[in-house]
Amino acid sequence: MARLEIFSSYARAKKLLTNQYLCAILYLERKQGDKKMTTIWLDMDGTMADLYGVENWLPMLEAHNATPYKVAKPLVRMTTLARLLNNRQRKGYRVCVISALAKNSTNAYDTAVMEAKRDWLKKHLASVQFDEIRFVPYTYAKNNANNGNDILFDDEARHLDAWTGTAIDAKNLLVELKKIY
Ligand SMILES: [Mg+2]
Repeated sequence: MARLEIFSSYARAKKLLTNQYLCAILYLERKQGDKKMTTIWLDMDGTMADLYGVENWLPMLEAHNATPYKVAKPLVRMTTLARLLNNRQRKGYRVCVISALAKNSTNAYDTAVMEAKRDWLKKHLASVQFDEIRFVPYTYAKNNANNGNDILFDDEARHLDAWTGTAIDAKNLLVELKKIY
């Protein structure tokens, strides 16, 4: 009972704080909870973004043109995806992106690709505040990001097979995301 009272007065006190202080407290609360949180990692190309459906995507990437990453169409209904991700985040999951950079890249092209990918996320998933957006080299083993039993949505077998947490084929992105509670 006493604990409940403390909790409710704490909750009430929080309502009286200015937004700035409230944001700081929420940030700290989330930080403290990080250790036991499961992360939902989302790949981009072939999972959320239809990069491979862009005409001439491969020669353009080989010419270090970042346009295909910008103009790729969404593979699923993004309003549904955003709703599901925001919902999971409220339930305590970290929601993160893990996306590979182009093959045989340069620093300048990596920078352009990261900018294109960040813009894509802002454009198509504006309401989602990702806990982390991680861009990795093309040959990176994504399982290095797995903090135990994290969940990975990906379209590539090499990443799904090597993942030691819960690996889910991106073909079932929305259906499987709905099952995560
Ligand atoms: Mg992919």
